[in-house]
Amino acid sequence: MNRRLAISIQGVVQGVGFRPFVYRTAVESSLSGWVRNRPDGVRIEVQGPAERLDRFLEALRQDHPRQAVIDSIEVREIAPADDAGQGFEILTSDADAEKRPSIPADLATCPECQQEIESTAERRFAYPFTNCTNCGPRYSIIESLPYDRPRTSMKSFSFCPECEAEYRNPLDRRFHAQPIACPRCGPRLELLAHDGRSLACEDEALRQAIEAVLAGKVLALKGLGGFQLLVDATDDRAVNLLRERKHREAKPLAVMFPSLEALRQCCSVSSQEAEALLSPQAPILLVRRLTGGPTRVLAESVAPGNPRVGAMLPYTPLHRLLLAGLERPVVCTSGNLSDEPMCVETREALARLGKVADLFLVHDRPIVRPVDDSVAKVGPRGLELLRRARGFAPLPIRLKEKAPTILAVGGHLKCTAALSLGDQVIVSQHLGDLDSAEGAALLERTVDDLLRFFDARPEMVACDLHPEYVSTRIAERIARNWSIPLERVQHHHAHVAACVAEQSIEGEVLGLAWDGTGWGLDGTIWGGEALACAGPELRRFASLRPFRLPGGEMAMREPRRSALGLLHEAGELRAKELTGQWFSPEEFQALCGILERQVSSPVTSSIGRLFDAVSAVLGIRLRNGFEGQAAMELEFAADGVADEESYPLLLVPRGDLLLLDWAPMLEALLAERDHGIPVPILSARFHNSLADGALAIARQAAIPKVVLCGGCFQNDRLTRTVRERLEGSGFEVFIPRRVPPNDGSISLGQVLVAARRRSSTSESALRLKTNS
Ligand SMILES: [Zn+2]
Ligand SMILES: [Zn+2]
Ligand SMILES: [Zn+2]
Repeated sequence: MNRRLAISIQGVVQGVGFRPFVYRTAVESSLSGWVRNRPDGVRIEVQGPAERLDRFLEALRQDHPRQAVIDSIEVREIAPADDAGQGFEILTSDADAEKRPSIPADLATCPECQQEIESTAERRFAYPFTNCTNCGPRYSIIESLPYDRPRTSMKSFSFCPECEAEYRNPLDRRFHAQPIACPRCGPRLELLAHDGRSLACEDEALRQAIEAVLAGKVLALKGLGGFQLLVDATDDRAVNLLRERKHREAKPLAVMFPSLEALRQCCSVSSQEAEALLSPQAPILLVRRLTGGPTRVLAESVAPGNPRVGAMLPYTPLHRLLLAGLERPVVCTSGNLSDEPMCVETREALARLGKVADLFLVHDRPIVRPVDDSVAKVGPRGLELLRRARGFAPLPIRLKEKAPTILAVGGHLKCTAALSLGDQVIVSQHLGDLDSAEGAALLERTVDDLLRFFDARPEMVACDLHPEYVSTRIAERIARNWSIPLERVQHHHAHVAACVAEQSIEGEVLGLAWDGTGWGLDGTIWGGEALACAGPELRRFASLRPFRLPGGEMAMREPRRSALGLLHEAGELRAKELTGQWFSPEEFQALCGILERQVSSPVTSSIGRLFDAVSAVLGIRLRNGFEGQAAMELEFAADGVADEESYPLLLVPRGDLLLLDWAPMLEALLAERDHGIPVPILSARFHNSLADGALAIARQAAIPKVVLCGGCFQNDRLTRTVRERLEGSGFEVFIPRRVPPNDGSISLGQVLVAARRRSSTSESALRLKTNS
């Protein structure tokens, strides 16, 4: 007796080989019916005997492609149709499905492809561009939608007969896999000297590249989403050479390990961490280094003084072949200069990286847009992204509510752009900082891309409140060109809203936005804010007691200036100590002068700058080599310290705002320092004090839901202690996970705030209309 089921599946089920999987599963069980893409997922009708249908449903849930994410499966029984015995079909997508397709993300090599490149019997043995429906490049090669080979950078490669047959066979793993290729018909490797001379091709290119890295040379590799720079991570001299040439003195470098086993020789990796590393997204994962013993394989210069290392496993066949030949971990860092975007074209890479790399291992599959490696860590509730790019972008984030079409341009550092379409927000990959002309150009290109891909006409554009941001100017131009309204969203409001959007939090929340800098509603630099947020509204409930930053921008790079500003505000100015240790007498005089006169020394309530100041006061770091260095080293100083004590950090009213007064804490900290209490203990107590402060604020606000966001919550110790304090007192704590806590999430938050402002104005307009 045949029955028929109508099945609706929601989640990430398009562009991930889901329909071929459904097809194969149905055909294997001799079920009839069809599958097709729908705007919100996949729809299946399937018919056959009951027990085979049960097995089919079971397979949908258990055996689906690992890169698919099923949010929900809805099953209804319907009347049997007369297609019984006519087999199973993949139907073309619905007309509306074509209007809003999703763009698939790049995926790490799947186990089957891995096996093929390792097996001499396979025609893709050792072929660096092997991929299938379950893996390979996507977003980095798509030129336009719908996603089909002629609209990717694979268009110039025509199929050989064997690849074509695989592509056309619904039972093959490569059925409709757009980027597939083989040694006969696909892209090829080439090794170039730094002046662009060709040195070798294919296997020989790979062999010479491996030799060069083993000899301590710097290799520029054209990877999946852009150029990367590789050196032997066990060779201190090679790592330092790369640092010197890249002008990157101290910032930690990511390391690619040949295998999980090799990684476990240097780092402790939990089963959850292993799962993340081996996932199709294969991010760079922050894992703890093992200490002592014969485990010091990594050169110290990879991540100096850092108890963790950013580790990843080979995620393309090319990386896999390289690492198999090297048999050791390699530094694998973005091919750029300081914070510019990654190079994607060979000519551009030769021009920009010619003085950094000795050799260039390149190929002829064009990269359409830079897609950096994602960075993540495993937190108490699973994976938490710190940089959202390869593997995750541009998969949509689903909102609880429908939004108008809003384009958001993000902030200034770690910029992303976002576009809302109905109840989905497409957040672009991490674009980097906008200080360089290249960075700004990349943001403009990304905005064009998003609009073009989805054929979208924005109804509004959203940007930061900061009048000088490059992104703000770009947004102003877009608003003019499209004649659409511009919504300016306060930076920390956007931080809170991003977490609200990502985790579909309902009702009012208290957002603790602890950050470096963001333009405040009062024109000062905010960054230690407690914001009560409901709908589009924002109420500044509490803030860090403000202090001045002598020299403004310079203070971001020089924690000693933050410390001077803090001590000056506290009246704790120990001139002798400071002049001797931190500044020349002339500098000191000048900086005190501007603080006294209140010129060139903007007011800030930034917790990021408080971290800087305390780092300097404790003698940890006076000048930052990279953004956040002083704060990171202050965190690391307390590594492994279990100390429960804290300093007084009081909440005092000033007008209708509560201020978190750091002065008593600073006094106690300095006194303990002068009594010779070790720095690790002082650092632990400083973190504890901030957690006390967070709890005091939350209790006063009495809002049960608390969001932790902003760059400071990249600090593991801070996040853990604040969370424990709050949860211990019954608060529900939210931390962004699928978007980073840092400025990478600003564009998503801007979208939500702009959408809610729009819906509240249209509601009040409606009320006015009904009243009159
Ligand atoms: Zn594959
Ligand atoms: Zn082929
Ligand atoms: Zn921020």
